[in-house]
Amino acid sequence: MAAEVVVAAAAGGGDTLPWVKTTSCTGCGICVETCPVGAVTVEREAAFIDMTVCIRCGLCHDACPAGAVHHDSELVPDEVAAHMQRAREIMAACRKHFGDGEEKKCLDRLIRHFNKERKVIDATLAGLREIAGKEGQA
Ligand code: SF4
Ligand code: SF4
Repeated sequence: MAAEVVVAAAAGGGDTLPWVKTTSCTGCGICVETCPVGAVTVEREAAFIDMTVCIRCGLCHDACPAGAVHHDSELVPDEVAAHMQRAREIMAACRKHFGDGEEKKCLDRLIRHFNKERKVIDATLAGLREIAGKEGQA
């Protein structure tokens, strides 16, 4: 993940919101005043979004005069790079602790882990689409 990211939203697609780029943020606090649920604080002149509180309404994105609030989808390359870096570290550690050739087993476990994550995401998306379908019929 890039160093300038204050906080990243959970992985998502499309144009979901938000995350804050500290190199653009001036710490003006407008987003703090704008947020309807009190999810934003300014710490050391940079906005911090508590994603356990954020309802993804996007108001902070529209209100920010510095264009510091960005979309989740911009984080995908950084998140993939972070996963790949972690995979290389895990394989190196497995090689060191268990010997040459053993890193393949650790890699297989990591692949199973991400397959599990994909199942969680797929099932969650299916549930959300079902809700969206019902909402559309209402
Ligand atoms: S409104 Fe924008 S520039 Fe101001 S504190 Fe919030 S994110 Fe930073
Ligand atoms: S997206 Fe909405 S709820 Fe989330 S931090 Fe911004 S203003 Fe607050």
